[in-house]
Amino acid sequence: MSKDCLFCRVAKGEIPADIVMQNDDAVAFRDISPRAPTHILVISRKHIESLEHADDSVDLGALLRTAADVARKEGLVDAGYRVVINTGAHGGQTVDHLHLHVLGGRQMTWPPG
Ligand code: AMP
Ligand code: ZN
Repeated sequence: MSKDCLFCRVAKGEIPADIVMQNDDAVAFRDISPRAPTHILVISRKHIESLEHADDSVDLGALLRTAADVARKEGLVDAGYRVVINTGAHGGQTVDHLHLHVLGGRQMTWPPG
């Protein structure tokens, strides 16, 4: 837990969020500025700054498993969906707490912008 970290505060319930799923390792909640009809963030309960700082494959596996569970719960599986991890400045990361974007409900384009 980092006391000034936005997503640590969401995970602790100190900042309100529209939570769609949570388990021992992760919390999933709707992005405040959705870029697709379904846009959910999956965060680790543990403060991990970015993918670059994720040393534990168990933590990473739990986040991916939760992202897939969220996609199934949200009914995205048949049409498909995208999972994104923005990392660092060029990756477009704006919150320095590891998070996966689960995006669905429309056709995604490639390459991403
Ligand atoms: P990134 O740009 O990959 O670091 O993603 C950060 C995401 O967090 C953006 O899509 C923001 O819209 C989202 N976001 C920022 N603050 C909040 C919040 N309080 N609740 C939900 N989503 C948020
Ligand atoms: Zn944090």
